[in-house]
Amino acid sequence: MPTFFLNGKELEFKQGETIIEVAQRAGIEIPHFCWHPSLSVSGNCRICLVEVEKAPKGMIACATQATDGMVVHSDSPKAVHMRNAVMEFLLINHPLDCPICDEAGECKLQDYAYKYSIGKSRFDETKNHKDKRIELGPNVMFDQERCISCSRCIRFCEEVAGDPQLTFVSRGEHVTIETFPGKQLDNPYAMNVIELCPVGALTSRDFRFRARVWDMSRTESICTGCARGCNMDIWARNNEIMRLTPRENMDVNQYWMCDHGRLDTFKYVNDEATRVNSPMMRSDDISIDNDGLTSCDWDDAVSRVLSELKNYKADEIAFIASPFSTLEDNFVLKRFANEIVGTKNIVYIPLIEGKDDKLLLRADKTPNAAGLRYLGIKPIDTKFINKFLRKEFKMLYMINDSLGRLEKTDEIAKAIEVGILHLSNFGEQSKKATVIFPSSTYAEINGTFVNFQNRIQRIRPAVASLEQERLPGEFAVSRLDKFGAQNDSWTKGTRFNARPVWKVISQMAKVLGNDFGYENTEEVFDDIASKVPEFYGMNYESIGTQGSLIGQTEKVTV
Ligand code: SF4
Ligand code: SF4
Repeated sequence: MPTFFLNGKELEFKQGETIIEVAQRAGIEIPHFCWHPSLSVSGNCRICLVEVEKAPKGMIACATQATDGMVVHSDSPKAVHMRNAVMEFLLINHPLDCPICDEAGECKLQDYAYKYSIGKSRFDETKNHKDKRIELGPNVMFDQERCISCSRCIRFCEEVAGDPQLTFVSRGEHVTIETFPGKQLDNPYAMNVIELCPVGALTSRDFRFRARVWDMSRTESICTGCARGCNMDIWARNNEIMRLTPRENMDVNQYWMCDHGRLDTFKYVNDEATRVNSPMMRSDDISIDNDGLTSCDWDDAVSRVLSELKNYKADEIAFIASPFSTLEDNFVLKRFANEIVGTKNIVYIPLIEGKDDKLLLRADKTPNAAGLRYLGIKPIDTKFINKFLRKEFKMLYMINDSLGRLEKTDEIAKAIEVGILHLSNFGEQSKKATVIFPSSTYAEINGTFVNFQNRIQRIRPAVASLEQERLPGEFAVSRLDKFGAQNDSWTKGTRFNARPVWKVISQMAKVLGNDFGYENTEEVFDDIASKVPEFYGMNYESIGTQGSLIGQTEKVTV
C-alpha cells in the first residue's frame, strides 16, 4: 500500500484519497469549514491549507490527493502562518456576537478562533454589515453577516436532499446565499443545514434563543417518527426537551434526519396540557370532569383492572400491542395476555402512509412494527375487527395507541364494555376508557426498537418520569463536558407521574401470583434474548450506541 508522511508520521492511503481523508482516519485534525465527508469538495474556505514539501505554495488538504512518498506538514511554521492568515481573513467582517449567537459553544469558527487565530486583527476599517434574521424557509433563519460562504448548505440541498433551493449571489465581500426566486428552503430535510453550517448563520426557528448549549444535557436515542429509526441526540434542560439533532450512524441515517422527525416527535413529551399525569378511573358519576374519568392512585387503578379481568372469559378480552412502544413493553403485554389471561388475541394496528422517499423517510410511520413481528404479534385483520363488531370481544386492553386509525372506530368503541389504556397523552380514545395508566414516553425510558433494516437499536431516558431508570455509566453528557462541567436535567426532579407499560403490567402479574421477576428494563430485554431466537445472545451492551443487525439487512441507499 502506498504511504505518505504527515507531520513525520507515515500513513497508508488508497489511491484517490485526499490528505484530509487520510488524516481524519488516522485521528489527526486538519481544521476545515467547507469540507464534509458526505459532500462534494468545494475547497473554498482555505483553512485546511497545509505545507507540502517541494510544492511551490500551500495546498488545501481537502482537494489534494495523497501521493506515494509525499511529505506534508500541518503543524510547521508555514502551515500555522497560512492558517492564522485565513482566520484573520474570515474574521474581518464576522460580527463579534458570540455572546448572543445560538451557535456559541458548538461553533467551528469560535473553536478555531481560540485554537488557530493569533487573537488580533490588522483590519481597522468599518466592518461590512449585512442583513440579519432572514427567513429562508419555515424552519430556518439566516444571519447574513455570520456566513463564511463555505457552500455546505448549497451543496447539501443539491447533493443530499436532491432539491437545489439555495445559491450564492453577488461577489467578493458582498457574496451571500439566497433561495432561488419564488422558492423557500422548505425541503423535508432542510434543517440539516443548521448543523452543517459551521457558524451561526443558519439557526432553527423552533429552537433559537431557547437554551444555551452548555445548559442542556445530551442523550443518545433514536427517532420514533418512522421505521428508519434515525439515530439522534435528545437535548434537555430542566427535564424539558429543547431540541433533537441527528447523530451519525452510517448504516442508518448517515449524518441526517428529516424535519418531521426533528420537530414533530418531541413536543408531546413536554406538553403539560395533554400529558396524562395520574392514573384515571371511570366513575359512574359522569358529571365528574373528563367524561366521568377521575384521578386515582396507582394501586386503585391496578385493583380495578384486576377486578374487571375477572368479569370476562379469556376469549372475550382483546389485547392491542403498539408498534410505537418498545420491544420490552410489547413482550410483557404478550406474556400477560398468553400466560395470565390465557388468550392469543393480541394484535397491533399498522400505520403505513404514502411511499418511502429517496433519502430516509419510510412509508411505515411506526418505529417498531418489525420488532412486533419478531415477537409473534401480527397486524390486526378483518377477522379480529369483526369480533369487536359482533361484540365477541367485550374488554379491550391497549397500550400506547388508538383505535382511530381503524375503519368503523365508533362502532368498535361502542361495542366494547371495558377499555384499559396505557397512554402518555389524552386523545379521542381516552374518553371511552375505563382505566387509563399514564405511560412514559420514549424520551423517559430505556428500551429497544427494531427498524425496517432489522436493526435493533436502543433508546435511553433523557428526561425523568416517575420511574427514573438509568443504567450505570449512561448518564447524559453536556456540551460543557469538554470544559470539565456537568449539566444533567435529572438533577431537577421528576416531571410527569408516568410509568413504563412493562412495569405496570408486571405489577399486575405479580398480584395475580405470576411474578415475572423483572427489576428493570434491561432484565426484560435479557428475558427476550433468552426466549426469542432472533435475539439470542444480545444484550444492551452488545446493541451499543449504533444498534445491531438481526439477520439480513436491506442495503442503505442514502
Ligand atoms: S450559511 Fe453557513 S453553511 Fe451556508 S454558506 Fe454560509 S456558512 Fe456555509
Ligand atoms: S426519517 Fe423517520 S426516523 Fe428519520 S428523522 Fe425522519 S421520521 Fe425520524
